[in-house]
Amino acid sequence: MDQPLSRRIPVLYSARQAAKNPGAYSPSAGKPTIVATALADRGFPVSFYAPRPLLFAELCRAHSSTYVEGILSGREQNGFGNRDKAVAASLPYTSGSMLGAALAARPNMPACSLTSGFHHAMWDTGGGFCTINGLMVTAAALLEMGKAERVAILDLDAHYGNGTDDILRHRADLAPSIIHRTMGGSGSRHGHYIAKLQAFLADISDFEPSVILYQAGADPHEDDPLGGYISTEEMRERDRMVFEFAEGEGIPLAWNLAGGYQKGGVTGIDPVLALHLNTFREACRAYGLPIPAEMAVPASARSRSSWWDEPVDDVPMLRGPERSKDSYREVGRRYSQRSLFNEKW
Ligand SMILES: [Zn+2]
Repeated sequence: MDQPLSRRIPVLYSARQAAKNPGAYSPSAGKPTIVATALADRGFPVSFYAPRPLLFAELCRAHSSTYVEGILSGREQNGFGNRDKAVAASLPYTSGSMLGAALAARPNMPACSLTSGFHHAMWDTGGGFCTINGLMVTAAALLEMGKAERVAILDLDAHYGNGTDDILRHRADLAPSIIHRTMGGSGSRHGHYIAKLQAFLADISDFEPSVILYQAGADPHEDDPLGGYISTEEMRERDRMVFEFAEGEGIPLAWNLAGGYQKGGVTGIDPVLALHLNTFREACRAYGLPIPAEMAVPASARSRSSWWDEPVDDVPMLRGPERSKDSYREVGRRYSQRSLFNEKW
C-alpha cells in the first residue's frame, strides 16, 4: 500500500533529536528512535523529514538567553537533573522537529514530531524531564515569523503545562495570540475527561487558530505509573475527537509524543509505544488514510536485544525518493505550494 507523498503523514525525525540518557527515569530522550523504527517497520503511511536544528536566538524566543546558553554549554542542569552533553546536543533538533511539523501540517493532513519533554520547561529553568519548551518555541516562531496569526496549544499530557503558562507570562506580547488548554491533573473520570475535552475544543474553535499544536501524551493511561486515569480505548477516543475536530474545522494540526512511563517488552517501553501507535492509527482514520493492521513486534525488532545500546543512527528510515539532505527544505517548498495554511500567511 504505497501511498503517494501527498497522502502520507509528514513525520519530523532525526536521530540527532534522540539522546541516550542512562540513569534517567524518563525514557523520553530515546523514544523518538523507537517510534520512528516502529512506524517504518509496520508500514504506516508516513514520510520522514529531518528537522532543521534551531538557532540560539530561536530558542531564546521562549527562554532567557542566560538559561539557553547554560543549557547548551552543559553548565546548567537540564530537565532530567543532569548536565548530559548528549541531551544538550539534541535540543536544537527537538524544538526544530516541532516547528518543522507545524510548518508541514495542512488542513487535510496532520504532521507529527517524534518529541517529548516540552511543557514543564519554564522561562529560565527546566524540570520534569523537560528542558526547552518546544511548544512555546514553535508558537513564538510561527507568530514572529508571520507564519500564523493565532496558535492553539492543546496539551493532553497527564500533567499540567506549567512551563507553558510561565513562558506566556514572560511573553505577554505574544500571549493574546496563543490559546493554551492543558488537561493536566483534571481527568479523573471518563465522562468528566470527555466533557472537558469538548469544552477545550469549543474554546479553540472560537479562537480560530491558524494551527493547533497537540501534545498527545501517553501518560494519562490508567496503567501509567505517573498518570493513570483513562483506558486504552478512552485514549483512542481522545485522539479521535482531536483529529476529527481539526480535520472538520480545516485547521492544520501538528502533534508530538509527550509523556509515557510504562516499561516492558522488547523496546523497553512497548506499552507506551503501543499507545503512541494508536494515536497514529486515529490520525489515519480521521484523515482517510490506510490503517496498518495491529500486529506483533516484527522479527527485525525482536532481534535487537536492547534499544538503549543501539547506535541511534541505525534506523531503517528515510527510504525512497524523499531521502535527501535537503528534505526539510523540500517539504517546506512542497507544502508552501499546496497548503491552505500557507496561503493564509
Ligand atoms: Zn506527563
